[in-house]
Order: sequence, then structure tokens, then C-alpha cells
Amino acid sequence: MKAAVFDGQDISIKEVPIPKLEDSQVLIQIKASGICGTDIAIVKGDLPTPTPLILGHEFAGEVIEVGRSVDSNWEGKQITSEINTNIDFNCYYCQRKIYSQCVSRKALGIDIDGSFAEYIVLEPYLLHELPRNISYKDATFIEPLAAAYQTFEMMPLGDDDKIIAIFGLGKLGLLLTQVALSKGLEVIAVDSSDNKLAIAQKYGVKHLINYFETENIVDEIKGLTDKLGADIVADTTGNPEVLTNIVASCKTRGKIHIKSTHGRNTPINLTDIVVREITLYSSRCGPFNKAIEGLSSGEIKVKNLISKTFNLENIKEAFAAYETSRDFIKAVIVV
Ligand SMILES: [Zn+2]
Repeated sequence: MKAAVFDGQDISIKEVPIPKLEDSQVLIQIKASGICGTDIAIVKGDLPTPTPLILGHEFAGEVIEVGRSVDSNWEGKQITSEINTNIDFNCYYCQRKIYSQCVSRKALGIDIDGSFAEYIVLEPYLLHELPRNISYKDATFIEPLAAAYQTFEMMPLGDDDKIIAIFGLGKLGLLLTQVALSKGLEVIAVDSSDNKLAIAQKYGVKHLINYFETENIVDEIKGLTDKLGADIVADTTGNPEVLTNIVASCKTRGKIHIKSTHGRNTPINLTDIVVREITLYSSRCGPFNKAIEGLSSGEIKVKNLISKTFNLENIKEAFAAYETSRDFIKAVIVV
């Protein structure tokens, strides 16, 4: 089969064997696979992985063969998959149903081969069947949308949590914006792309701040929040300069939520966090069932979020597209 293999320096299309189907697994023909910031961080060398490695973890496909001990009803199903595989169902975290932190977990496309390929084999416990009204391409948003929902699983909202400032309107930021609006929060959206800000505006965001065109971001946010700062400030950028503004634009006793996984060491003003008793949250993988429901019901919209689709053979072009324009949101690889 064809696969996009990362060798530690670069990715290239290689001919590799179709993975062997074990009795407990299903063989999936991959139909669509999204490029995530994590994939970009790996290729840039910011996030170390074993090599050679097939990257990719935001994907959807069809089950085309089932192993001997697997329920044959899986055959023909349209599915997406959890990112965390190799769950032992036995460790401290598994006993508490926190499978995404299982001590033996291996993340697809990060620790083990992922979805930038024609086929993948997986255990069926990882799979979620797609409702008929979610296309393969749209289904590549389920994993990051689950991560957006996880923001509020890890950080329950209190009575005083009314305004969230979201820094960075990439794919994750725009999904988080929609989830935050669905929770009744007022959103202040911050990005350097007018195109991305316009998408946030279409979702119903009233406060739009262009990062590059605003002299003082912190003053701007304080001006919208009775001089207090936002109740919650979320970061999807991982940019050190942005993080300085994130701390400064959070209200005293507010909440900061870090969503970015970029692999770099990032300085952050911990003294200001301590002095003003700000709570620091983080979250990553989340509930797929909520993401599927959000997409299927139409509450979460992803139509504007695919900037371009590419064939697997042109995956290098797809990675390069993120560098070409600040307006670029997400590339989807169709297989
Ligand atoms: Zn476990």
C-alpha cells in the first residue's frame, strides 16, 4: 500500500506492506485524513517520535475485513477511531475510565503508525460508527472536536464564567469557539487572519481582535471586560509571545486553558499566575460521542474549515500549504 512515511527528517510516499490483520482486529480502508498541528510539529522536529513512522490520526474510513474473533457486523461500517490505542483496561487510569491516559497507551501517528496511508488495522473497541449525515471528510474533525469538548470536561464552568478569550483560530480554535458558544459563553476571538476572524463572526462571535492590527491586546480585552480581563483565556497557539498576553488578559482568579501541543518549551509568567490566583488548566483527547453528536446535529459546523483537499501522493504540498498563508485552516488528505 502507499503510505506517507516520516524518516526523522522529512515525509515521503513509500510502498509498504498492508498491516497484518490479527484475529482481534479489523482492516480499515482509509478514506480521509486531516493534518493536525501535532503532525506539523513532528515534521518540524519539535515533537520527537520513533521513526520510520506513518503520521496522521484525524481520519475516517470503511471497515473492509474483520479478524476471526471480531463481530462480523463491523464489516462495511463507516468509522472513525480514537487516537489512543493499546489500552490495557487495567492500569490506575483505566480503572477510573480515563483511557486517554492509560499507562500503556500508544497514540496513532505519534507512537505507532497512523492514518496517512491506504489501510490501517485497529481493535474495534477504538472505533465509532459514523452517522449517515457525516461525510468522511467532515469526520476528520471528530477527534479535534472531541478535544474541544474536553476543554469543558476538564474545566467545569462556574457562575462567574461568562467571557472566554480564545487565542488562535486554527481548526482547534474555531471548533473551541463553537463549543464555547454552545455553552452560552461570550467569546472574544483573537487571531492574525481576518479570514479566520470572519468565520468566527459567522458563528456568532461579537468581539473580534486582529492580533497584528491591535496595538495592545491586553487593553483591548480589558476594555471588553469591565477592566477585569476575561474569565477564561484559552490558548491554541503555543506561541511564547502570545502566552505572555494570555496571562495578562486573564482576570484575577480567572482560568487559563492551554490547548496547544507543539513540543517546544514555552516561558510563561508563573508569578503573575500565583499572585493573581489564576487556575491553569489543560486538556487534549476528549469524548468522541459528544463530538459526533455535535457534528451530526448541525450544532458544530465544519464546512468552512477545510481549506483544501489533497491526494495522499501530494501530502508534502499539503504540509507546505500551512506555511503559505495565515488564512489556511486545515488540509484533508483523501485516500
Ligand atoms: Zn490502562
